[in-house]
Order: sequence, then structure tokens, then C-alpha cells
Amino acid sequence: MGIDLEKPPVQTTHEQSMEVAEEARNEDYQNPSFGAQLFMGDFNWHMLFPFPEQDPNDKKIGDDFAEKLTQLLTSQLDPEEVDKTREIPRAVIDAMAKMGVFAMKVPKQYEGLGFSQANYNRTVMKVASYCGSTAVLISAHQSIGVPQPLRLYGTEAQKKKFFPRFRQGSISAFALTEPDVGSDPARMNAEAVLSEDGSYYTLNGDKLWCTNGTIADIIIVIAKTAPKMVKGKEKQQISAFIVEMNTPGIEIVHRCEFMGLGGIYNGLLRFTNVKIPVENRLGEEGRGLAMALATINVGRLTLPAACTGAAKQCLHVARDWGSHRVQWGMPIALHEAGRQKIAYIASTTFAMEAVSWLTSHWADQGKVDIRIEAAMAKLFCSESLWKIVDLTMQLRGGRGYEKASSLKARGELPYPIERVMRDCRINTILEGSTEIMKLFLAREAMDPHLKRLDFLVKSKPAMSELITKVPKLLGHYSWWYLKKIFSPWKTDRYPQLGKLEKHFQFIQTTAPRLARTIFYYMAKYQKKLEHKQMLLGRLIDIGTDLFAMAATCSFAVYQAQKHQHASAPDLADYFCVVAERRIKESFAALTSNDDSLTNQIAKRVVGDEYKWVEEGVIPMEDSTTFKKGS
Ligand SMILES: Cc1cc2nc3c(=O)[nH]c(=O)nc-3n(C[C@H](O)[C@H](O)[C@H](O)COP(=O)(O)OP(=O)(O)OC[C@H]3O[C@@H](n4cnc5c(N)ncnc54)[C@H](O)[C@@H]3O)c2cc1C
Repeated sequence: MGIDLEKPPVQTTHEQSMEVAEEARNEDYQNPSFGAQLFMGDFNWHMLFPFPEQDPNDKKIGDDFAEKLTQLLTSQLDPEEVDKTREIPRAVIDAMAKMGVFAMKVPKQYEGLGFSQANYNRTVMKVASYCGSTAVLISAHQSIGVPQPLRLYGTEAQKKKFFPRFRQGSISAFALTEPDVGSDPARMNAEAVLSEDGSYYTLNGDKLWCTNGTIADIIIVIAKTAPKMVKGKEKQQISAFIVEMNTPGIEIVHRCEFMGLGGIYNGLLRFTNVKIPVENRLGEEGRGLAMALATINVGRLTLPAACTGAAKQCLHVARDWGSHRVQWGMPIALHEAGRQKIAYIASTTFAMEAVSWLTSHWADQGKVDIRIEAAMAKLFCSESLWKIVDLTMQLRGGRGYEKASSLKARGELPYPIERVMRDCRINTILEGSTEIMKLFLAREAMDPHLKRLDFLVKSKPAMSELITKVPKLLGHYSWWYLKKIFSPWKTDRYPQLGKLEKHFQFIQTTAPRLARTIFYYMAKYQKKLEHKQMLLGRLIDIGTDLFAMAATCSFAVYQAQKHQHASAPDLADYFCVVAERRIKESFAALTSNDDSLTNQIAKRVVGDEYKWVEEGVIPMEDSTTFKKGS
């Protein structure tokens, strides 16, 4: 029997999941975000032009450190061995600790290196371009592990206690996911119960896929605490704790093994009556998920930089192999099918770099809300890298599929594209999957309208309220909508952009079209819109491409003027031409699509109507026959 679509087998309802996700949204931001303005139809190009520049003194610190780390890794670490043996040599971890690699994001006053986000990301990009597992060790510790949330939410006593340990080489991790908790934290089982005297919590539960969890000294654990009554309704509380891994009751049940990233220390952790002193709770009770998500908002910025590092290596391989491998009388990169690949790889790598550095600099400036741009950067860079690796493997032909060690053994250039492909696949899944990023961005895109319409949606407004507010609302939206229709008729001049001016003009005219399209679908589908993920996905793809275009144009002008890379605008121009075509296709697909048919067929597949298509193969065990734990 298939799933009963009328009564899906869930313990939490969609409403409960949404309630938890909404509770966790951080509303503390004051300054307008570039992406939020874009979704409302305004192209605030002043925010990204001229391209923000890193302070030269700060850059030198990052350059020197990255150079030292590069020397250490290239002389003492073989990424192929890490992948094969599933171990990063202890001597390398110790040497990195001595350099302060695990204290890059620890403020100077607590014995750390106090790196800017730009320097930290540039360092991780270099490491990621060499060994994915080592990059993940550093990033899981610092982007989502203890240093980042401690910096944001820790008390002075907590900072004094834990920060200096990272300079001495302590490694941390972040434990949110559970066997039943992936993208949906409302289903959380791990529970921390406060003792009667209020001095400690007792933690019980399992945490899955905790990266660094098998070697960490201190970790952040997210767990349920006692529910609270809010406006007569019981509200689930999720809290965050700093947990010392040598506390009795913690068991590393299993070290997980993945298709790639062979050397990551990722495990299933079990907590049985683990006593956590109350002073190790991070922030207030009930704010754990909001803090975790806010941590990931900034932590997420490292992944685009890591993806850019891997993309740069792919570009190197594609260019080198593509121009030296001659088949059918021509270098393979010069056959038209090869040209298409190499042009995409080069221009998209450049765009990924633009997006990565723009968001890093914005994070360092600390003035703007970058939740939207961080999510767009994560979405754009992780999806783009996957396409880039796929194209690079295709260009390398059989050698792309062959392991670097095998290539080396028979005397060929050991480009590790096979390993890079395995390593990078996870990027579209973790730290917010592509689908969840799109839902998050869609929610943010609609937020200004939802705030205005809140009184109509949430409560049953009194007649007097309706009489005063509704005409105002109608007036506001009539004017707003008309503006969005007519503003694309007038474009500004951007002479500073040179040949890229037309792309800024395209963004300026497309943003209002996107804004009114979002509003139109909100009015048309109302609450049902949140379930129209194919439609929302197209709107988010358009917004993300507009953001990437804007960043890329600005970065190209910067590269041409400051670094004498006169060829940069041509690459940016090509990226934008391709992105504009994608955007036009996405707009067209809003009204001309197969969504309804897709929905019907998918429901019938899930309802087992097409089970017969699976016949003719050796059957595998499935969810109906498999006994968990066997
Ligand atoms: C190598 C690795 C390292 C990890 N490191 C950590 C770590 O350090 N700490 C930690 O806490 N976790 C970690 N994770 C967990 C990771 O963050 C989760 O895999 C991720 O959150 C997705 O959860 P899930 O795998 O359970 O997928 P699910 O939530 O079960 O989702 C499965 C698929 O369904 C999609 N989906 C889910 N909900 C929706 C929806 N509402 N609408 C549309 N599509 C939806 C998802 O996008 C995904 O494609 C790691 C995982 C791996 C594999």
C-alpha cells in the first residue's frame, strides 16, 4: 500500500512546523537588505557599486596566513590519502592548531586571531580548493560550531571560559539534526530537562551527522526544553547548550561514511542523562533555534567561498585539459560543445567569486541585513558548482571518472575531478538545502506584504478596523502596483559600468516586474501560495540571478580598474547575457508550464499507481519491509 495522501504519516502538522520556523525568524535587523529591496522592485545599486574593498592591512594578514597554511597543507597533507584512509593526519591537525586555524574567528581579546569574514572565507576557499575534508573540518568548527554562536550570544563568562581553548586547538561541532529532524526542527526529540534546583539540565536524545562530532572537545547541542504557555497556548521551546564532550553519558554511536568528504569526522551521537550546568546554556531558554538559524545565516557565507575554490580548480582543469587534449583535429575545448562548457565554467566561476566576496564584505561591514543575500549566495554557488563539476568531468571524458591515484599510477596527470565531484555534492543539501533556501527566500520576499496584510490574515478584525485600514491598504497597493508597472519604462544611465550598463538597466527594469509578479501571485493564491513551490522556485531563481548579475557587473568593473584585468567586463557580460536568458525563460514558465500535470503524476506515483514501472529488477528492501536498527 502506498501512502494515504489524505492522512500522511506525520507526528507534526504543517502548521506546527511553520509556527516553529516563524518563531525562529530573527527580526532584529534595522537596515534594508539589497535582496529585500530587489524583491520589492527597487534596485539599490549604490549598495554594491563601487565593489566593497578589503582594507589592505587586513588583506595582508589574510594573505600571509593563507600562504603559511598552503605551505603546511601542500607539504604534509595528501588529499587523496585523506579520502582513502578517512583520516586527516593528527600531526597536520596539531600544526594547524598551533598556527591558530581553530581560532580564526575568535576575537583577539580572547586570544584568537580575530579574522574578518573576508580573511576567514579566503582561507577556507584556499583549503577547499585542495582538500574538501580539511575545509569541512575548519568550517564546521568555525562557521556553525561553538565560536560563531558564542561570539554572537555568549555571556562574558562563557567567552572567557571557552574562547581561549580554541587557540590551544580545541575543536567544536554543531548538533541540530536528528534521525527525524532534517529540514523541519518542529519534530525535535532531544530534550533537556531543568533540575528542580535550577542548577543543571539533563539531556537525552540522538544527534545525527554531527560534523567533527567524533573528535570534538566542545559542541553546541540544540534541544527541546520545557514548553511555555503563550497567550493561553502551549508553545514548544528549543534551546541551545554548550556541551563538553567528556561529560559522562555521551556516546559516539557511529562514525558516518559518505560518498565524498572521506576524511570528515561525522557521527551519530547519543546523549543519555547528560548533565549540563545551567551556565552552559547559550542565550535565553526558547531562543535556541533562532540563534542556530542566525548563526547559520553568517556561517552560510563560508560555503559559497569554499564552492568558489573548487570551481576555480575545475576551471583550471577544464582550460588546461580542454586546450591540450586534441581529438578530431582540434583541442576539445574548441569544438563548439566544448566552447559552451568552458565559457559557462569561466563566467560562472567569476560570478561565484563576485557573490562570495560581496557577501563577505557586507558581513564585515556589519551594517546591513544579509540573511537574504547569504541564502542567495549559498543557493547560487552550491548549484553552480555542481553544474561546473559535471561539465568539467564531461570535458575530461574517461579521465574525469578515473581516480587521481589510478591516473597517477599509470603516469597521467592526476586531476582529482572524480573526488571533487563526490566531495561537492553535499553542498546543495546541508546548511539549508536548495529547496529550503528557496522556501526561506520566498518567505522573505513576501514578508513586507505579509506585514501589511497581517491584520487581515491573522486575526478577525473588527468592522471599525476594516473601515479605517482597508481603504488605506487599497490606496497604498493601487499606487504601488501602478508604480511597478510604469517604472520599467524609464531607465537610469550607469556610465561607470561601461559596456555592462545595459545589464544594470535590465536589473532596474526587471526588479519591478518581479515585485509585481510576486504580489500578483500572493493575491491570486493567498495562503495556498506557500504550497506552490514550482512557481515560487521560479520567482526565487529570477531574484537570485538578478543579485548574481548585479554583483558580477560591479566586481568586473572593480577587477578592471583596480587589478588591471581588462578582460573582466567581457566575462561578466557573457554571464549576464546567459542569466538574462534564464530569467526570461523563468518568467515565461510562470504561465506556460506543466505544474498541474506534474502535481497529478507525482501524487499518483506516491500513491503507488505506477509501482509496476519498478518491475523487472532485483528488488531492494524498502520502508515497508525494513526493520529499523536491524
Ligand atoms: C555530510 C553531512 C554533514 C552534515 N553536518 C551536519 C552538522 O554538522 N550538524 C547538523 O546538525 N547537521 C548536519 N548535517 C545534516 C544536514 O544539515 C541535513 O542533511 C539537512 O538539514 C537536510 O536534512 P535531511 O537530510 O534530513 O533531509 P530532509 O529534511 O529529510 O529532506 C530531504 C529532501 O526533501 C527536501 N525537503 C524537505 N522539506 C521540504 C519542504 N518543506 N519542501 C520542499 N522540499 C523539502 C529537502 O530539501 C531534501 O531535498 C549534515 C549532513 C551531511 C550529509
